[in-house]
Amino acid sequence: MALSNSQFNDLMKRYDERQIERERELDARQKRLYDVIPSLRSLDDAIRDAYINMARVELKGGDVASVKNEISSLEAKKVSLFKENGFPENYLDVPYTCNDCKDKGIVEGVKCHCFIKASNALLFHQSNMEKRLQKTFSDFSIDCYEETKTDITGRTSRQSAEAALNAAKRFVESFPDKSNFFIFGDTGTGKTHLACCIATEIINKGYSAVFVKTPEFIDLCYQRFNDKTGEKGAMYERLFDCELLVLDDLGADYSTRNTPSLVLTLIDERLNSGLSTVITSNLDISQIRDIYSERVSSRIIGDYKNFHFFGSDHRIKC
Ligand SMILES: [Zn+2]
Repeated sequence: MALSNSQFNDLMKRYDERQIERERELDARQKRLYDVIPSLRSLDDAIRDAYINMARVELKGGDVASVKNEISSLEAKKVSLFKENGFPENYLDVPYTCNDCKDKGIVEGVKCHCFIKASNALLFHQSNMEKRLQKTFSDFSIDCYEETKTDITGRTSRQSAEAALNAAKRFVESFPDKSNFFIFGDTGTGKTHLACCIATEIINKGYSAVFVKTPEFIDLCYQRFNDKTGEKGAMYERLFDCELLVLDDLGADYSTRNTPSLVLTLIDERLNSGLSTVITSNLDISQIRDIYSERVSSRIIGDYKNFHFFGSDHRIKC
């Protein structure tokens, strides 16, 4: 799944550290109490002995009422000692960061919500989307799209956007899914917005997703050679093995002789691994063929669902 073994272990290590930190704090508070209230130590011993005694009596089937009374009176004495010396009654209840899992990260064999949150934060961190607004489908409104403009299929701008949104929702629901999306069309019509929504929703489901602009990908292809063990090298690797990749703005790169083969390698390797990719572009498929080669365009025709966005520039309108 989304987190690698070492990432999972790193997260679990944080939970271990939290527990150790809490134990340390508990010991420090206990020591402070005994320093300030020396008589507390013998009182604690008496309470412990009383509990042991109660267990013995219970085991023999005896009446534990009197032992319970004794424990209550000892506990009451302890509370009053706390008060007399200015300590709150719950001084030894060192709080957990998460009360639900008591800082174990797992409850009855299931990942706690705090673990899922930490895991998603890590996935977002490596998604290259932290600098972007993390939008979900509820932020994607089709009201910005006209009902008057149509494309050659006769669909209106709004119908096209709605079809893409519905397909994206189905894709997320059924993820992991081997589908791929090619979202193309006019500038400012919400292609990148929808792609970001898909990536955010996928990460919220606990899968890994990475967003990369095509010029950034091309730069990474060269920079990784000088940074194999660093962040650039790691980012390059993630493009090939994350569960969802958004390759944004195909066609916006400064095309070099190697660009078509770099793009083809990325697309092909992800197809071969059964990993989903969402490509956005201002170019249509014939322009992709002219710039990136027949082989790139044929992959997109054969293995990607196409969605056409058109109409007014939403960045101005909405
Ligand atoms: Zn928890």
